[in-house]
Amino acid sequence: AQGLMAGKRGLIMGLANNRSIAWGIAKSIHSQGGLIGFTYQGDALRKRVEPLAAEVGGQVFGHCDVTDKQSMDDCFGAIEKEWGSLDFVIHAIAFSDKDELTGRYVDTSEENFSKTMLISCYSLTSVAQRAEKLMTNGGSIVTLTYYGAEKVMPHYNVMGIAKAALEASVRYLAVDLGGKGIRVNAISAGPIKTLAASGIGDFRYILKWNEYNSPLKRTVTTDEVGDVGLYLCSDLSRSVTGEVHHADSGYHVVGMKAVDAPDI
Ligand code: NAD
Repeated sequence: AQGLMAGKRGLIMGLANNRSIAWGIAKSIHSQGGLIGFTYQGDALRKRVEPLAAEVGGQVFGHCDVTDKQSMDDCFGAIEKEWGSLDFVIHAIAFSDKDELTGRYVDTSEENFSKTMLISCYSLTSVAQRAEKLMTNGGSIVTLTYYGAEKVMPHYNVMGIAKAALEASVRYLAVDLGGKGIRVNAISAGPIKTLAASGIGDFRYILKWNEYNSPLKRTVTTDEVGDVGLYLCSDLSRSVTGEVHHADSGYHVVGMKAVDAPDI
């Protein structure tokens, strides 16, 4: 293969369908000659992930639920057996109870708080523990975050707290793994209508608001986030680690509603 990712092999976790951010990243990495392994969460997603993996010449390493240590060990064990090493990992995984992605943060239950933190934050660390062993020539670990980690966004609630902790994890992991040439970064993506996003209250309003008020006057696509993922996995970003890179049409730099934005 030729391209920026020629000779590199990596794992993409969090593919659900062709609207997933994981799919945008997979296409970009494939276009530059990277070889991709996928995992899926539960049998229902298997029949969606298998044909998509085939489209990009990828390999499927089976069911992997980040709350189930055995399934994690099985997947990373299969990768070690098949490939022996890993060059990149994309962590595109988050979950919270839909009922708590609306209304007030203060009403979050202890149970959903823990579950959200485990799936959306701790899982990056448990993935990094396993990836470290396989990244014998250095590597790149990339996760996905959102502006709701930095500022209060309506309905994002407990997920905002989890993303803030996820972004802090990126910095701690970058320091722990940097000596081995393993880089850890996050992409802070602007809002995109995916399966996970459909659980967030008033999501259409958030999309419109971003469109009218971001410097580029539009929302972002999974293909665009995919190209940022490609950059962070490739050697082009070899000096970059511990970074939260915004791919949001510049929305995060704006402090006030645009004067020409319509009322929505
Ligand atoms: P998506 O629904 O396509 O992907 C979410 C994935 O998380 C699914 O594949 C699902 O199977 C997986 N997942 C959930 N719980 C899991 C578990 N216990 N074990 C293993 N996998 C599990 O939605 P997406 O928007 O592409 O989400 C990918 C990432 O991007 C998430 O971290 C999300 O928070 C982040 N993000 C999304 C947006 C957006 O607007 N869509 C913006 C910024 C960041």
